[in-house]
Amino acid sequence: MEIDKTSQSELYRLLQQENIELQGKYDELLVKYKKLSEKEHLFMVDSEQCKGITKKGYRCGQKGLPNQGGGHIIHGYCEWHR
Ligand SMILES: [Zn+2]
Repeated sequence: MEIDKTSQSELYRLLQQENIELQGKYDELLVKYKKLSEKEHLFMVDSEQCKGITKKGYRCGQKGLPNQGGGHIIHGYCEWHR
């Protein structure tokens, strides 16, 4: 099969163009996501820290943060110490 050099370079050009567009969209999404996570962070942080004590005797570090596994702090305790 003969490779048409013109259409091949055209294909590369199109791919590159699409790549640049995708990169732009990706950057846009990153910015959006960052804004969203910042907003969510503000809304989701509970003002108090869990009053529970861990098995090792430490104060539980759960504060209702989105990246923490203990869920929201309700009545002063996280999901694990309620
Ligand atoms: Zn806790």
